Amino acid sequence: MIVRKGFKYRIYPNQEQQRKLAVQFGHARYIYNWGLGQSQDKYPGYNHLAKQLPILKKTSETTWLKEAHSQVLQQSLKDLDRAFQNFFAKRGGYPHFKSKRAKQSARYPQPKESWIAPDGRRIQLSKVGHVRLVLHRPLEGVMKNVTVSRTRSGRYFVSIQVEIEMATPIFAGGAVGLDLGLREFATLSTGEKIAPPQYYRKAQKKRRRLARQLSRKKLGGHNHEKARLRLARLDEKISNQRRDFHHKLSRMLVEENQFIGLEDLNVRGMLANHHLAKSIGDAGWSAFVTMLGYKGEWYGCQVEKVSRWYPSSKTCSVCGTKMEAMPLNVRIWQCPMCGTVHDRDVNAAINILKQSTAGAVENNAWGQSVRPSTDGYAGRTRKPTRFSGW
Ligand SMILES: [Zn+2]
Repeated sequence: MIVRKGFKYRIYPNQEQQRKLAVQFGHARYIYNWGLGQSQDKYPGYNHLAKQLPILKKTSETTWLKEAHSQVLQQSLKDLDRAFQNFFAKRGGYPHFKSKRAKQSARYPQPKESWIAPDGRRIQLSKVGHVRLVLHRPLEGVMKNVTVSRTRSGRYFVSIQVEIEMATPIFAGGAVGLDLGLREFATLSTGEKIAPPQYYRKAQKKRRRLARQLSRKKLGGHNHEKARLRLARLDEKISNQRRDFHHKLSRMLVEENQFIGLEDLNVRGMLANHHLAKSIGDAGWSAFVTMLGYKGEWYGCQVEKVSRWYPSSKTCSVCGTKMEAMPLNVRIWQCPMCGTVHDRDVNAAINILKQSTAGAVENNAWGQSVRPSTDGYAGRTRKPTRFSGW
């Protein structure tokens, strides 16, 4: 099985290279925004926009576009195309214009192995030069594209996407249902509870102080820039910790199970509820669910979603009785029909598992029966600790 994987490394361009990278970023951003501007009435499609690139380079106001690697510009239109496709498929919002102040990036397609020096200490980027690189873990597979980025705090990275042959997965472990929530990040149908990451909330106090300091500095001044950098670095740290948590947990779940059922969450709708927004932003479910999806493919674990309208909390997982209502503050309840006492979230997770396996039998890729298991880790709370990369 051939899968796509990403490897991310920090790079240290010198001042000259930083200047050249700024040109690539700027031109990539210009083309993205230009393409978006051309799409105000109707998105004309990638091919239509790409055909105009050579014309733009000859137009007197935009001849400077020649300074950019031509494929970087095409990739920028590809990014725009993906943003539109996501929007059409309702996976994302309408594409935004890219700002000079946000994270910057440019992608090179079709890189060659020779781009990375044999000693692994430099990477050759077209129109930029040989940039110092720290290869903190070996690169595997065949390189497909390279994205260079600059974070808001001024750090530079390359993300190298590769195609890699993975061993045919061995199906191990059982099936598990997940109830994603705020009180617990996830409750498993086994009764296990995974505590939510609290980095953001813990860092909130510090973040408020830094934001206040920033607001007191004069715009454009040296101290303003210093304060802005401190804040950007904290934000990056928080998002790295969160991503790390998602990677560890998703890997643990797909390794231990051959089937995962979860709810199709309406995160966007929930974010509109301002009260919940901070916790949900903190939890980052949609990024986590995306990871479960692609890692499930790597490890041979089927991931199925059940409709968000399925009443997983209100239904007794033992006898199927559906309650009229189940207010959010009810954590433990007893079924009036069969007398079972339920932990709200565990009951929901069991229902999600049952419902998702019911819908998944016919497209069960490996033809084995999927059996819900409810024994094992009941009542334990743990953090994902076993981790050896992703
Ligand atoms: Zn019951």
